[in-house]
Amino acid sequence: MDFKNLSLIELDELIKTGKATPQEIYSYFLERAKEHNSELNAFTTLPPDTPQWSGLPISVKDLFCEVGIRTTAASHMLENFVPPYESTVTARMKDAGYISFGKTNMDEFAMGGSGENSAFGPARNPWDPTRIPGGSSSGSAVAVAAGLAPAALGTDTGGSIRQPASMCGIVGFKPGYGRNSRYGVMAMASSLDSPGYFTRTVRDAGMLYRATAGHDAHDATSLDVPVTLDASIWERQDLSGLKVGIPREYFIDGIEPGVRTAIDNAIAKIRELGAEVIEISLPHTEHGVSVYYTICPAEVASNLARFDGIRYGSIAGTGGDITENRSAGLGNEVQRRSLVGSFVLSSGFYDAYYKKASAVRELIRDDFKKAFKQVDVIVTPTAPTVAWKIGAKGDDPLALYLEDVFTIPASLAGIPGLVVPVGYASPKDDASIDLPVGLQILGPVLGEEKCLMVGHVMEQAMKSVVESKKPKVF
Ligand code: GLN
Repeated sequence: MDFKNLSLIELDELIKTGKATPQEIYSYFLERAKEHNSELNAFTTLPPDTPQWSGLPISVKDLFCEVGIRTTAASHMLENFVPPYESTVTARMKDAGYISFGKTNMDEFAMGGSGENSAFGPARNPWDPTRIPGGSSSGSAVAVAAGLAPAALGTDTGGSIRQPASMCGIVGFKPGYGRNSRYGVMAMASSLDSPGYFTRTVRDAGMLYRATAGHDAHDATSLDVPVTLDASIWERQDLSGLKVGIPREYFIDGIEPGVRTAIDNAIAKIRELGAEVIEISLPHTEHGVSVYYTICPAEVASNLARFDGIRYGSIAGTGGDITENRSAGLGNEVQRRSLVGSFVLSSGFYDAYYKKASAVRELIRDDFKKAFKQVDVIVTPTAPTVAWKIGAKGDDPLALYLEDVFTIPASLAGIPGLVVPVGYASPKDDASIDLPVGLQILGPVLGEEKCLMVGHVMEQAMKSVVESKKPKVF
């Protein structure tokens, strides 16, 4: 049987009705993962040949600690690290009956937006393997888009679930900050890190959210608010009675025309489905990238100080010289952020950079607060472009940072964001191919249910457009 088109819910149904066994499903995806990994490099560690228990397989970004399973953060620094403890998200996923299905490739320590910063080589986009899949959760997006796994876990600090989901044509869901525990997830920027999911359907994302989200005493910033999802949201066929905000600051000149058209078509559909579409303003949007690239490195510098070869991290290849350890074990982007972060936190500069960035972050948060008094959800493009060629922006960190312009503000505000595929656009460098475009749906704090409801309705409405094309590797 061909399982790769099916959602978790459909696969579960096959098991319940005796049409397939969990073992058959596992072997099917294992074979696909093995067959395509040399081409796509989606996994840093392939799923085991013999799983320890049965249940539907979910791939795990290589920075969620799992007991006894090598977890590298795609860094040479942790190449041989086997965690002695389990992250809350993977523990809850397993409690709900799922099994872990390999560790997926990523930008080293989740720093990047293309997957190219992995110490184990870039993952490749199944729509065109000469292109990036987005990042930092590159391998998780690739595994789901190529049908190597029915779902995957990722993390999103500034867009790392939403942007690769958009570029690979699948669903990506980042619940609001504090909804999923950070316990056991290798820290990048602690005030931003948000675990979440890659799935084939919005409903699957909702199901995983129900399974893993909720208060965790091991994480000091975990929200102590019950996670509810009303089953009636999956029955909705239209968007009548809903107010949808379109922020004018997200429709700027840098957007590729094809992306713009795909998003405009999706907005026209939202109107057709009965929602009231309202133009809004999020006036501090333009400062998002500078604020993020000040706060994120500052937190990176403190979080990654532990990889000093004494507390954590290998000193292999340094001849035992600890002063060499970090330059040997960490890649360029990680070193760049650690240096920038130490600088913006240093005495004399702290007020001018870190403090100021934190103040502007509050303004960005307020923009959203005000907007959500007026509208139920906000929709925007996810990224200004479709997937680019591997290497095209490789040595230009600024060009890469600017790609995050539409995902960063929601991260700074800590609000939930869902991406659903809505169409296709040709990249600037090749008019003969079509690559996926995702619509970003943002909700207020604790507004996960609204995002999922709107996403589910849009998914049904855009089905014929989205399903008219399939990735090259699928
Ligand atoms: N691309 C962003 C960065 O490089 C976001 C990364 C993330 O969300 N982990 O920081």
